[in-house]
Amino acid sequence: VSNVAAAFWYPYQVFPEDLIRQWAAVTHAELTRLSTVEGSGVLQQDTIELFTTKVSDPWWAELVPTRRASFAELPDGYDDGIVFPSPVAQMPIYLSYLEERFRRAGGTLSVREVATIVDVSSQCDVIVNCAGLGAAKLVGDTTMTPIRGQVVYVSQVGLSRTVFDQTGYERPVYIVPRSHDCVLGGTAEYGDDRLDPDPHATTAILERCIKLEPRLAGAAVLAERVGLRPGRPSVRVEVDDSSPGLLVHNYGHGGAGVALSWGCADAVVSLINAVTGTGR
Ligand SMILES: Cc1cc2nc3c(=O)[nH]c(=O)nc-3n(C[C@H](O)[C@H](O)[C@H](O)COP(=O)(O)OP(=O)(O)OC[C@H]3O[C@@H](n4cnc5c(N)ncnc54)[C@H](O)[C@@H]3O)c2cc1C
Repeated sequence: VSNVAAAFWYPYQVFPEDLIRQWAAVTHAELTRLSTVEGSGVLQQDTIELFTTKVSDPWWAELVPTRRASFAELPDGYDDGIVFPSPVAQMPIYLSYLEERFRRAGGTLSVREVATIVDVSSQCDVIVNCAGLGAAKLVGDTTMTPIRGQVVYVSQVGLSRTVFDQTGYERPVYIVPRSHDCVLGGTAEYGDDRLDPDPHATTAILERCIKLEPRLAGAAVLAERVGLRPGRPSVRVEVDDSSPGLLVHNYGHGGAGVALSWGCADAVVSLINAVTGTGR
């Protein structure tokens, strides 16, 4: 699903807050740093989150510098807004960048389906399970739920700020400008695992986004995509004591896998070091 993500920093549809606070902060700092690295595909830009009523500061406001939107920044129908720096990872570029970094660090990739953890445990000293929604089958995690998300890619029309409105719970609206296109969303349909784009949803996404940003009326539709967010009541980052070897789980990141990624990776390394007694 990572390739489909709109991938702006926001702790969206991921739980619980006390667990993810540190991961979100670490990741914000690292994505901000990566936005200065050529070829990373990460862009530094602001997000404005819009609200139809006055709101108090969200819990994550202590993690990043925020300000209230001015009246002039609020589209019709909105009473409040919060503006904050929010790096955007342009996923196709960013994933290639990460893969290249992994290879340069001596990593090798082998692409195949793993039926059970036991099948690979004899070949590895440490296993980090990042199977996302696939963890439901791989480790029999019955708490996993797909959260279906549909997006529409359109041409760039000169936009440079992410706009986000999640007041409609199952139909968030977001406009994420990237270098050469914009990602428009979206949907958040719990328990729905249909992978085909729904044409009615595409029409609704375009209508809602154009209402928020009229310049999008002139944009060309490039593609529609669906991804299934790996929903879980709580992100799972822990050592699995029931495994014969060292197995660390790192899955269930819901709608914020990119926004928590570096923080969770640090947590995984710390867990491994704690068990093996090695330093970083
Ligand atoms: C429309 C949409 C918009 C989003 N926008 C954002 C956003 O703005 N910001 C944000 O932070 N997040 C966003 N997300 C959420 C984000 O995409 C996910 O949280 C994140 O990609 C999850 O990453 P992952 O690596 O855990 O899962 P995945 O990317 O799904 O990777 C899991 C991998 O494991 C492999 N796998 C699974 N089972 C097996 C097996 N048995 N054997 C071998 N391989 C296996 C899969 O093939 C896959 O390659 C969005 C999601 C969607 C759908």
